[in-house]
Formats: sequence, C-alpha cells, structure tokens
Amino acid sequence: MRRKLAAGNWKMNGTKSALDQVEALMELHPSPSVDILICPPATLVAQMSDRAADHSLSIGGQDVHFNASGAHTGEISAQMLEDAGATHVIVGHSERRTDQAEDDALISAKSSAAIAQGMTAVICIGETLADRDAGRTLAVLSDQLTQSIPNTATGLNTVIAYEPVWAIGTGKIPTIDQIAEAHAHIRNHLTAAFDSGADMRILYGGSVKGSNAAEIFAIQDVDGALVGGASLKAADFSAIISALEAA
Ligand code: PEP
Repeated sequence: MRRKLAAGNWKMNGTKSALDQVEALMELHPSPSVDILICPPATLVAQMSDRAADHSLSIGGQDVHFNASGAHTGEISAQMLEDAGATHVIVGHSERRTDQAEDDALISAKSSAAIAQGMTAVICIGETLADRDAGRTLAVLSDQLTQSIPNTATGLNTVIAYEPVWAIGTGKIPTIDQIAEAHAHIRNHLTAAFDSGADMRILYGGSVKGSNAAEIFAIQDVDGALVGGASLKAADFSAIISALEAA
C-alpha cells in the first residue's frame, strides 16, 4: 500500500516570517492521514524542522550535491541536509535542469548521494511542450527514468514526481487522460526496472491547486502531488492536503 504524499516546493521563496505558514498548516492538520513534506529554501530547513519536531510533517531540501564534502563553494551535501533535519530532497527539478543545465547522469548521482545518506530522493521528470507536440512525451519519460534513477532506488527511498515542464507555474494542466497515460507509463517502467517498483510513489506536479486537486487525485497511480505556488500559503496547501486525504 503506497501512502499518499502532499509535497510542497517553496523554491526561492520565504524568509523566517514564512515559518508562521508552517505553524498554521500543522494546526490545520494536527494528525494527517497522508504524508506531508515541505521543501523550503536551504536557509529555513533547520528552523522549519525544529518547529515541526512534534508533528509528522517532513522537511526536505530542494537540491543536493553528489559529493559528501569538499571544495564545492555554495553547495550543500546530503549529510548537511540531514543534519539540519531534512529527510527528503527534491532532485532534478525542471528549473534546475534548465537553469543549471542538470542532466540525467548528474541527477542520478545526486539521488544516489541522498539515498546513501538515508534520505528519500524526490526525482523530477517531465516533458517540455515541444516534446509533447512532437509526440515524444512517453519516450522522453522513459529516457529520464532510465538515466536519472540510481540502482539503489527502492519504494522506501525514492519518489518520482511527474511534472510536465509546460504545466509548472503556468496555470495549465494536462487533461486527465494525459496524466493517466503518463502515470501508467511511469508505473510500468518502475515495476519492470525495480523489485519494489510497485511501491514507489508517483506524484503529479504542475499547477495543482485546491480547485483541481480532487480530479487529479482520483487518477490511478497518482499518489499525491508536488506543489509549487499553492504550497506557500497554509490555507492553499491545506485545501490540497484535504483533497488528498479524501481521495
Ligand atoms: C513545482 O515547482 O514543482 C510546481 C509544480 O510548481 P507549481 O505548482 O507552481 O506549478
């Protein structure tokens, strides 16, 4: 049985005052029936995890270096994230694939480092609009799955986030059939490639909000969501969490 997961990616948003939103979220969901994860900027990981100490809320990083330590100015290792209280880390978000030119091999190495540290890697994949228009969506997903998931991945230490690049932050979402097709394809790949592939959670990400969450969560093999903009405010994220609890 895969436990559902509502994950929030705060991206480069939030200073100390934003911790109030996490307090409010925990008050709204004192004992959630789904897993909740928030990935704040690195500057807030330790403080947020202190505030969440008495709650099941998990805290994650938004990126990790593939090395354990060393001369890598500005980078953060899995050990450092874990030491700050993070249990998860987002790897290979499309914004990093674009802005930092991260490729699948690097994403696999980063995921491997996170897993080796005992953390859960939330590995992001997804097609661009050009890929979709050219009918390449499933082939692109297959390539990303093959190359960006390390062979140490299991249902316990790895979550896949399917995020069509063109749906992130745009207010556009794929049709229900398109999401269902992509998630079924990902599930087939995972079960063929990994012993515990049937246990790996697959999140949908891209413009999820309270008003569209229920129809997305009703789709087979959608085990939750990775949410950007609508995870910043407790009330908005709470609506998504409640929809996931009801699904
Ligand atoms: C994301 O950043 O992973 C994301 C899905 O963003 P948004 O929900 O804002 O589209």
